[in-house]
Amino acid sequence: MSLGADDTLKIRSFVDGEFIDPATGQWLDNYDPAVGEVYSQVANSPASDVDRAVAAATRASRDWSRLSVEQRANHLLRIAEGIRSRADELARAECRDSGKPLKLARDLEIPRAAQNFGFFAGLIHGMSTAAHDSPVGLNVTLAQPFGVGGTISPWNLPLYLFTWKVAPALAAGNCVVAKPSELTPLTAAMLGEICIEVGLPHGVLNIVQGSGQVTGQALVEHPGIRAISFTGGTATGAKIAASAAPRFKKLSLELGGKNPNLIFADCDFDKMLATTFRSSFQNQGQICLCGSRILVESSIYDRFMAAFLMMVHKAKVGDPLDEANDLGAVVSQAHQQKILSAIDTAAAEGGRILAGGHAVSVPGRCERGWFVAPTVIDNLDQSCCTNQREIFGPVVTVQPFRDADHAIELANAVPYGLSATVWTANLNRALRVAENIEAGVVWVNGWLIRDLRTPFGGVKESGVGREGGIDALEFWTQKKNVCFCR
Ligand code: NAP
Repeated sequence: MSLGADDTLKIRSFVDGEFIDPATGQWLDNYDPAVGEVYSQVANSPASDVDRAVAAATRASRDWSRLSVEQRANHLLRIAEGIRSRADELARAECRDSGKPLKLARDLEIPRAAQNFGFFAGLIHGMSTAAHDSPVGLNVTLAQPFGVGGTISPWNLPLYLFTWKVAPALAAGNCVVAKPSELTPLTAAMLGEICIEVGLPHGVLNIVQGSGQVTGQALVEHPGIRAISFTGGTATGAKIAASAAPRFKKLSLELGGKNPNLIFADCDFDKMLATTFRSSFQNQGQICLCGSRILVESSIYDRFMAAFLMMVHKAKVGDPLDEANDLGAVVSQAHQQKILSAIDTAAAEGGRILAGGHAVSVPGRCERGWFVAPTVIDNLDQSCCTNQREIFGPVVTVQPFRDADHAIELANAVPYGLSATVWTANLNRALRVAENIEAGVVWVNGWLIRDLRTPFGGVKESGVGREGGIDALEFWTQKKNVCFCR
């Protein structure tokens, strides 16, 4: 990254170990959403830049895939250390690029980006394959990398999700062409700098900046990329699947959610309440795992509502650099408008807006930023648009349920199936509910507790495939059986 002739910060693609200008000379404005102003420009890399990146990755993949596990792991550990050594700078960059509270980036997301590399550096030591012997032959199964993998990641947890995809791909012996979101390109570019600082061989990781339509599409269509890991919206996932399927590419899709948060009367009320505030509004509700549908057992509905609304009314929205604030800005003006329009739809559907429901003006530095008040809506039935489609902002709906069967029925009555949360002291019931909920991840009496060894992913329109732990390494390798005939 460097300043252009007009003194604007230029965020370039990182290809074959160096930062390059887009071949077409096309740049996109990049905003600081908390102040509502352009602060940099990001390359809109055309297909020819993606070609360059794939060619570099292809050249590098021969040597990279032949490194010993220990050598590859050492490279990943050096990247992890490089992230840690620039953690504060990265957290500030993430906050500026996305509008998220600085404390969230600093305390959770940037440390996790380093951990992603450290974790997969360790895990590859445990990778093993099978051998099957018989009187006529000894079969040895190899798990081989693809050569070049493609990753496409969203803006909500920029470096955290970018590295969650790149680290296992590299660990498994692939070289990578990775595209971050054009809305939050900065920390991925800084990771490119870190790769230079720690001496990652050229071409092993290439970062192509640009829009989904131009750069993302070119990456998906590229014949040199045989496997793609995508995280983003369900509609984009469908487009990518349609494009990748006739090219017979391996695909992992981590998509949207409309996650239920089931609250039974016998739960630990105080713990549930504090966690439900976080699972509703952390990162302004822009986390795929947020519990945007709160389902509450009828007998405690009024008690829950009173206590929850009191918390929500007290929540502070404002400058993401101010640690006293609970919520920062949403990622863009277009996203702010989308959220506000979803709230209008909820009102038109008969929903009662019990808290929030509007944009927030923040005086001073952030007076032109894009903020939305935490919003709570009830009086909506399960079939309405508000309870069916993902909003991906600080908006939750609340519905009462009669019993466990009714709660499960409501929980499953959406096209999505990413995650769910169950609050109850009755572990038999928790298990029955967890077994019957259509979701890839269920938390009982907690939220967002992540062990990187566990499988992560969704069902129904929330995605196909599993990331995390050994599942990620399996995704990034293909099996070949070699039979030594006797
Ligand atoms: P998005 O609009 O689908 O974009 C995701 C990524 O895909 C971005 O890098 C985007 O590029 C790129 N893209 C867009 N169109 C493309 C195309 N035709 N071909 C190739 N790439 C394309 O999603 P988002 O708005 O960034 O992220 C929010 C969504 O992600 C929500 O639905 C959320 O639930 C989901 N999400 C899911 C998970 C999970 O693990 N299941 C985790 C986090 C987020 P540009 O942004 O540059 O256009």
